[in-house]
Amino acid sequence: MTSRSNDLPSGKQDEEPKEYRGSCLCGLFTYKLTSDPLLSTICYCLNCRKWTGSAFTAGLAFPLSSLRPSEESKAYIRQFIDTSQSGNELQRTFCGECGSSVYTEVPWADVVSVARGGLEEGEKLPAPSTEYWCCRKEEWVDVKEIGESFQRND
Ligand SMILES: [Zn+2]
Ligand SMILES: [Zn+2]
Repeated sequence: MTSRSNDLPSGKQDEEPKEYRGSCLCGLFTYKLTSDPLLSTICYCLNCRKWTGSAFTAGLAFPLSSLRPSEESKAYIRQFIDTSQSGNELQRTFCGECGSSVYTEVPWADVVSVARGGLEEGEKLPAPSTEYWCCRKEEWVDVKEIGESFQRND
């Protein structure tokens, strides 16, 4: 059954605020982001690899102010203060129940880098356009159509 009234043009639809939602593996840690991503990245640095347990981390950077962990999630949020090579602090955030890597807050840059795998509808999110720490990239990794590549990101 279709209703014609649903097909009426509505100029307001495009103006709804964007929202992106995500969660950890067990589902107890959920969050949303209330603006569009600023950048889609891959990082091969050793800390990102340890954090995710993978050969690289794929992340989407959003303005830090757009991050909204759900009220129910607050009991499960765990943070580890990581320090970059240049001495800047990053807050690696994971679920205290299942251990999933969820996002990294980067207060000095005013962004949060959200682990791509936790976001809903990943196939609709922008493909990575920037890669960092290529000097740590393993030979077999072949990510196509990256816009900008950096050997390091100190
Ligand atoms: Zn969890
Ligand atoms: Zn990294």
